[in-house]
Amino acid sequence: MRILILGPQGSGKGTQARRIADVYDVPHVATGDILRRAVAEGSELGERVAPILERGDLVPDDLMVDLIRERLADEDGFVLDGFPRTVPQAEALDAMLDEIGKPLDAVLLLEVSDDVALERLLGRGAEEGRPDDAPDAIRNRLRLYHGLTEPVVERYRGEGTLLAVDGEQPIDAVSTAIEDALESLGARR
Ligand code: ADP
Repeated sequence: MRILILGPQGSGKGTQARRIADVYDVPHVATGDILRRAVAEGSELGERVAPILERGDLVPDDLMVDLIRERLADEDGFVLDGFPRTVPQAEALDAMLDEIGKPLDAVLLLEVSDDVALERLLGRGAEEGRPDDAPDAIRNRLRLYHGLTEPVVERYRGEGTLLAVDGEQPIDAVSTAIEDALESLGARR
């Protein structure tokens, strides 16, 4: 299974992507986790992206595309979480998967309102101390989502491959809705 999961910050993407990875036995490829790990390790990549992450800005497309190309090179299946976040990234992903003859099986969209997203992120910021869960950075991330990532959602919606799920339900209900949607495509665990 090659699955893409889209949705705003605070939509529960990470939680659901981990569950999907478990159920369908594919790796969870989360760009935010990869970048935060690089920052924690103090690698060259980490030093370059640390201030970007802190502000809630986006890492340059070319850097992200190279990172994903390398990460997906040897994978047959995956749940991709956090990429693509811009139309150029989506174009690069399509071209990459096309080239190796491994198209996406499903594109999931977790829908939540900005109010719910904001409330969840402020709660997480207080609990986990993620620097980009500070109010200004959250607002910046949601603004970038609407401006740059929603066109990616519309691109997949236009292709008819988008499966939208209500992300405001309780976690288990969202998981069930996702599994139902994937099974309607004929996905096997
Ligand atoms: P969230 O979706 O809650 O913002 P993530 O963990 O997915 O959290 O991403 C954290 C940060 O990592 C983003 O705010 C951004 O700075 C960077 N990032 C992750 N994925 C990408 C991407 N595809 N393109 C550019 N920047 C990215």
